Amino acid sequence: MKKFLIYFLLILMVMITSCVSKEQAELIVYNANIYTVDSAFSKATAFAVKEGRFVAVGSDADVLNHFESSNTIDAAGKPLYPGFNDGHSHFLGYGIWKTLYGNLVNTTSMEDVVDRLKKYNNTHHPEWLLGKGWDQNDWENTDFPTNELLNKTFPDKPVVLTRIDGHAVLANDVALKIAGIGAQTKMAGGEVVLKNGKPTGVLVDNAADLMKSFVPTFTREQKTVALQRAQTDCFAVGLTTVTDAGLDKSDILLMDSLQQQNILKMRVYAMINPNRENFDFFYHQKPWHKERLTVSAVKLYIDGALGSRGALLLKEYSDDSGNIGLRLHQPAYYDTMCQKAYNAGFQVNTHAIGDSGNRIMLRTYAKFLKGKNDRRWRIEHAQVINPDDFHYFGDYAIIPSVQATHCTSDMYWADERLGKKRLKSAYAYHDLLLQNGWLVNGTDFPIEDISPIKTFYAAVVRKDLKGWPEKGFQTENALSREDALRSITIWPAKGSFDEQQKGSIEPGKMADFVVLDNDLMTANEKDLYKVKVLSTWVNGEKVFGK
Ligand SMILES: [Zn+2]
Repeated sequence: MKKFLIYFLLILMVMITSCVSKEQAELIVYNANIYTVDSAFSKATAFAVKEGRFVAVGSDADVLNHFESSNTIDAAGKPLYPGFNDGHSHFLGYGIWKTLYGNLVNTTSMEDVVDRLKKYNNTHHPEWLLGKGWDQNDWENTDFPTNELLNKTFPDKPVVLTRIDGHAVLANDVALKIAGIGAQTKMAGGEVVLKNGKPTGVLVDNAADLMKSFVPTFTREQKTVALQRAQTDCFAVGLTTVTDAGLDKSDILLMDSLQQQNILKMRVYAMINPNRENFDFFYHQKPWHKERLTVSAVKLYIDGALGSRGALLLKEYSDDSGNIGLRLHQPAYYDTMCQKAYNAGFQVNTHAIGDSGNRIMLRTYAKFLKGKNDRRWRIEHAQVINPDDFHYFGDYAIIPSVQATHCTSDMYWADERLGKKRLKSAYAYHDLLLQNGWLVNGTDFPIEDISPIKTFYAAVVRKDLKGWPEKGFQTENALSREDALRSITIWPAKGSFDEQQKGSIEPGKMADFVVLDNDLMTANEKDLYKVKVLSTWVNGEKVFGK
């Protein structure tokens, strides 16, 4: 009897201590369909979060037996993924566009543009009337527009309207006069488009930048509002990290201070613009890898965009004889920029669209990188690649940073610009993926819709939202669903050297995740783009959803 009592007490003690010793967590999620996106692409059903990081990931029993929390959520079997990461976007630019520009996306004609501007002008009364998002490729008349109607409607106010790709503007005569731009204005890497010897108001690349430099800068307060708006929209589509592909020091410091005040909870990978002020500040310190802010790269541009025929091609445009596009700087400039970044231990991320632009940058990178390396220098867009040049990506470990929705936005007219043969090695995401076994995917928003789910759909299906073309566009270059998911989670984290901190659901990583209403891995192809975000979480804190 005595023996039995001792045994009983012992068992009771073990039970009590095991209960008492359950570790407290800030958050437990169980009964979820979790894609951890770890290196084995494992699944799990539960995790626990402490101090903003995952501390355990596994089965419901694993997690619930060892942890307890007053914040325990039954996910009802819903699919759950690491928070999405947009590897190439313009976060501040998007916010400014949403809060300080007239929206010209999906306009159907110049008349439509002017109608929208009139409404915007009447409600906002800006000193400079700014608009963004027009694309003459969507209009009945796909020629570049002229500013006649703008001059008639807004004879006293400067008007500057940025094309969807950001590489061209349409300015009225008042704005041209302020900038001192006329028929005689000539510059390298830029074009003032003329008709009958007079400026039409269309300015391409460096000419567009000259015009933009006359637009008054926005205040800190305006930018703060813009960033908050951008954050709200991005959380709603499941993004927990975004990129800002080209910022100045003052804007980066503004983001840093808003993040420290917890006003900005979004994580940002900010690339610096290549200017003296940025170099003096950032190249004299180590790259930043703060919890919410990474600054480890310089953004360069070699050429313009395909839509405005600014992309630099090896041979003339198929629909514009004699035109090969624009190279924005002399070759020596790229050598200098690469040397400075190399010395500072920064990444070089260069915008390159045309096959010539890509070749110049790949060869320039190769001179510095010399062979395999882990500097993760990137080509942003990597859109048209000559078949002879793919090997550079692999041989020199250069990372392609692509935007799957550019493919499905351009596919209607890209063959006219490039011709059938060149088109074959354009938007070649799968061929690019094979070079290093990983790549970065993004949207380039506000040029494209901010949704990473649409990026996923475009990468996997290569059709537009109406299901066109029926068999998909050059589907030999589609990504598998698994690779497409990696391309919007762990790979962009790797693309900024942050893969130890985020990008997968693993113990020790920051607890960023997203819950969807349908499973990206198994949903019907035609339903993929309709998949909705139910909730978005950063550091285990819900930032979007009911
Ligand atoms: Zn961009």
